[in-house]
Amino acid sequence: MRLVILGGPGAGKGTQARQLCRQLNVVGISTSDMLRQAIASQTELGLEAQPYVEKGELVPDEILIEFMRQRLLQPDVGNGWVLEGYPRTAFQAEELDFLLEELEQRLDWAIYLEVLEAVMVSRSSGRAYTPEGMVPTRDLRPDDQPEILQRRIGVFSDRIPTLLEYYGYCQRLLTINGDQSPEQVQQHILQKLGI
Ligand code: AMP
Repeated sequence: MRLVILGGPGAGKGTQARQLCRQLNVVGISTSDMLRQAIASQTELGLEAQPYVEKGELVPDEILIEFMRQRLLQPDVGNGWVLEGYPRTAFQAEELDFLLEELEQRLDWAIYLEVLEAVMVSRSSGRAYTPEGMVPTRDLRPDDQPEILQRRIGVFSDRIPTLLEYYGYCQRLLTINGDQSPEQVQQHILQKLGI
């Protein structure tokens, strides 16, 4: 099965993608993990991507499209994949379809994890209200700082309508309420996939 997971910062893309890979026994490919690793090891891709990631802006399409092309030509993807954080623009979505056509493959579904902006902010800011007050829930990354996070959410909100339109038009869109426990979200995804 070939799936893409769409959703804003903190929507739960990573968690759901990991579970789906396990369930379906396919490879998971996360653009944000790939970029963060490339930046940490200062590879050519990392050096190119770093200024964009640090500002919360999208890395230019041509860089990501070429990188994903190389990745999806690797032998380990034969059984299928789950892409997390890709595509993020209509151009990336179209290019992904062109590549799949060339490979005589097809995307099965685009899964959109829908959550309110307030949920994205509270999950990504790594803190939660508890009876003891605000407590940290995870380590913050540099681009989770409030100003940058707000820009990432803004970029996501600008781009997502076109992506939803694209996959909706091709009848490959599954929208899931992401504002539930990770287990419930997973259950709904599997139900909609008929698994
Ligand atoms: P995320 O953690 O998924 O919000 O991604 C972190 C950052 O990685 C984003 O703010 C972008 O700078 C970059 N990024 C990840 N995926 C893409 C993509 N498909 N296209 C462009 N930039 C991306």
